[in-house]
Amino acid sequence: MNKRWTIDEIKKFVENNSESKLLTTEYRGFSQKLLFECACGNNFEKTFKKFKDNNQRKCEVCQPPKTSR
Ligand SMILES: [Zn+2]
Repeated sequence: MNKRWTIDEIKKFVENNSESKLLTTEYRGFSQKLLFECACGNNFEKTFKKFKDNNQRKCEVCQPPKTSR
């Protein structure tokens, strides 16, 4: 089963595991899209599941959404 994340835990995960910043301040579940700020300054939206499990931790400019492993 999925661990139940809090917004604080997600924020820490984002800070510790990427160069992006979390802008969303409320977390309602895995299907919710969260707003991130990429290291390049772009904002992007992604579910936390994709961010964490699919390693999509940058904006689509820095990391185009191709499934290359
Ligand atoms: Zn970027």
